[in-house]
Amino acid sequence: MFIAHLPAWYILTKKLQKHIKNTKYFFIGLVGSIFPDSDILYFYLIDNKQNLHHSYWIHRPFYWLIITVIFFFTIWLLKREKYYLFGIVFFSNIFLHLFLDTIVWKVEWLFPISNKAYYFFDVPDVYDYRVYNFVFHWTFLFEVLIILWAISIIFREKT
Ligand SMILES: [Zn+2]
Repeated sequence: MFIAHLPAWYILTKKLQKHIKNTKYFFIGLVGSIFPDSDILYFYLIDNKQNLHHSYWIHRPFYWLIITVIFFFTIWLLKREKYYLFGIVFFSNIFLHLFLDTIVWKVEWLFPISNKAYYFFDVPDVYDYRVYNFVFHWTFLFEVLIILWAISIIFREKT
């Protein structure tokens, strides 16, 4: 997914907020929705574009599952119930990001059991500029739909 992570964050966090009723979690959801793509910095600055950034640990659901379990176990142990909502908003946006990436990117959902990367639709290499392969593929309509959905929520709130 290229451009719809932020609109997807908006939709999910707005839906969660109906139950949470606290706007401070809005920003936390935003961070969670784009955090996995922070590996792009590593990809360009350190890894010298050697491996696709979706193959880094930060795009592997297994590690997020471990972090999520440790997070909730710790706040349960320390009896810091107020952080439950933080965790729900942050980690649901992380897993939404990984799910949306699975539409056309390859995500290793069963790692470490298997290194097989899963994806819903294969996007063939047609253009020299790799981004065009995704932007001009029909699956990009998913991104457009998510953006339109988020815009419709914004307009509904204003009326
Ligand atoms: Zn990603």
